[in-house]
Amino acid sequence: MSESKRLIYDLSFEELEQVVSEWGEPAYRAKQIWEGVYKHFWNDPEQFSPLSKALRSKLAQAFKFNSLSPNINLTSSDGSTRKILFKLQDEQAIEAVLMRYGDDRRTLCISTQAGCAMGCVFCATGQMGFRRHLTTGEIVEQVLYYARQLAQEDQQVTNIVMMGMGEPFHNYDATMQAIDRLNDPTGMGLGARRFTISTVGLIPMIERFAEEKRQVNLAISLHATDDKLRSEMLPINDKYPIKDLIKACHDYVERTGRRVTFEWALIHNENDSPEQAQALAALLKGLLCHVNVIPLNPTAGYAGEKSSKDRVRSFCDTLESKGIPCTIRVRRGIDIQAGCGQLAITAE
Ligand code: SAH
Ligand code: SF4
Repeated sequence: MSESKRLIYDLSFEELEQVVSEWGEPAYRAKQIWEGVYKHFWNDPEQFSPLSKALRSKLAQAFKFNSLSPNINLTSSDGSTRKILFKLQDEQAIEAVLMRYGDDRRTLCISTQAGCAMGCVFCATGQMGFRRHLTTGEIVEQVLYYARQLAQEDQQVTNIVMMGMGEPFHNYDATMQAIDRLNDPTGMGLGARRFTISTVGLIPMIERFAEEKRQVNLAISLHATDDKLRSEMLPINDKYPIKDLIKACHDYVERTGRRVTFEWALIHNENDSPEQAQALAALLKGLLCHVNVIPLNPTAGYAGEKSSKDRVRSFCDTLESKGIPCTIRVRRGIDIQAGCGQLAITAE
């Protein structure tokens, strides 16, 4: 029965080796299967040409190669952004977005959960609530799906951001295992520095991440410098207030020597004043970091509006004048609801 089959992307290389040895096959077969999956992006047992017919049919009996069904496939009007809504095996759904920057950057924004439990008020995923964690394999498969498509155009996935649906640090183990899987030099070999994890600020997990000294980029969703406003926007702030969060960031930088990115969705008359920019600069003083601002993207459940271009510019200028590097994130795919925080199930 297909339900009893394991998703092949849920297995580590060691687990695959184990299966192959239980089949009484030589160890190099595991390597061939692994390369088929992670180098050639094969997703049909029949494609595994180095294997015997008998072994291919064992593979087919034991494993699923496709758990995501592309349901809706949208491309932005300028062609630079493609969003796919995938149905999972249990009818939950997630979204993953491909963004093309120039000729050589292909950044994938992937999901780590169906829905999200954190309830940030301006986020479409937060508005839909938590459905479930994704497995390692489901996270990995989003990447392989796009990698397969890009390979047909002789292109590759170059960067991955965990900024789709869900809070990656709420599903820590599966997220890290997915990164390890894609990072493995004997497979896809995507360097750790090509990954960015964005978190709403789950301090214990930031600490764990720092301890593990991973080379993955860390982004923190800050959005406010005072606890009252931040808690209104990001309810988890009640549990992990700003002072503790910033301390955790200092510890992270100290342990890893790596820079932290702070994300700031600019909302008209909420968090876009010059005073707030000053307060942010003061809060981040002495921390190896930079700020990435993004004008708020509209969502059905939140009335706030994006800041004007002038306000965005001057917010950034104020930060820069205080020595805090600031970049304005390009808004992409707004016409297909693929901008930040817009990922929600529109197909239900
Ligand atoms: N859960 C993680 C990652 C997913 S959200 C996190 O919260 O960091 C990715 C980024 O989009 C976060 O910085 C989030 O605060 C931001 N975001 C959410 N909704 C948004 C919206 N409507 N407009 C702009 N940014 C938004
Ligand atoms: Fe979850 Fe991030 Fe959205 Fe907050 S902003 S609800 S943490 S996905």
